[in-house]
Amino acid sequence: IEDTGKVRDGFPRPFPNTPSNVLEQLRMNGKVVVVTGGADGIGFAVAEAMAEAGGDVALLYNSNDKAIVRAQGLALAHNIKAAAFKADVSDPNQVQDVIQKVVVEFGKIDVFVANAGMAISKPILEQTLDEYKKQMSVNVDGVVYCAKYVGQVFKDQGFGNLIITSSMSAQIVNVPVDQPVYNATKAYVTHFGKSLAREWREFARVNIVSPGFFDTKMGAGPLALNEAYRMSVLGRQGHVKEIKGLYLYLASDASSYQTGSDVLIDGGYVLP
Ligand code: NAD
Repeated sequence: IEDTGKVRDGFPRPFPNTPSNVLEQLRMNGKVVVVTGGADGIGFAVAEAMAEAGGDVALLYNSNDKAIVRAQGLALAHNIKAAAFKADVSDPNQVQDVIQKVVVEFGKIDVFVANAGMAISKPILEQTLDEYKKQMSVNVDGVVYCAKYVGQVFKDQGFGNLIITSSMSAQIVNVPVDQPVYNATKAYVTHFGKSLAREWREFARVNIVSPGFFDTKMGAGPLALNEAYRMSVLGRQGHVKEIKGLYLYLASDASSYQTGSDVLIDGGYVLP
């Protein structure tokens, strides 16, 4: 390569001012983490992980009112600030309002985990248009609305970290259940997240988590259990406690050089 003497503007960027001790890098003290779908399954496990590491947490929920009690429980157990906020992620006005409310209540947002999602696992020929639109509105529109409104907060703050819960279904065509719409919604958000990592390069990191079968409401049922047993290298579903470390790593300074990555956590399901 010919050396033209020209270098990229602002080059070289400084290294981050983070501790070198990895356990200190993983501490979330003083950080505010928002989790959608935060009252259940993977979302609540993520909220717990953040609270256990000393972070303040805002649980966003749409239907599960136990979010309020769960937030109070986290605050008491871990001596952190926690609150629950109701919002349907498929409604852009509610998303915009709730992000404003969190900023007013907590003063900033360090990490936003766009985790809410749902599946109507059916072949397209058996799916109604309403079922199709419902999955698109929660899994795709919901993530886009959250990113759009929290992205503005990140830009104004000059820092931020978005983590999107996608799925291994973004990478494979699942068997034996045909669910092309769910699979495609997840492929959308994976690529959307990677693209945002570039768009937001001046002020925020963006990473994607792609789980395999986990033992939540969504992952429940004999078919999922059997598939996890039959197809994954580890021969079982994941317990939600086994996903906490990955989200903590991505949320924390331990991953400060990581952006635009899609991290599979599937017990080796996709491997063979
Ligand atoms: P879950 O059903 O326990 O939790 C989903 C959460 O999303 C619930 O809290 C629900 O209330 C919330 N939600 C749904 N629609 C919403 C809306 N319109 N507005 C706001 N919140 C809404 O399932 P989970 O397994 O914890 O799912 C979390 C994420 O993980 C989802 O995005 C899902 O697609 C993804 N995922 C799960 C698995 C698995 O095996 N469990 C595998 C791959 C990906």
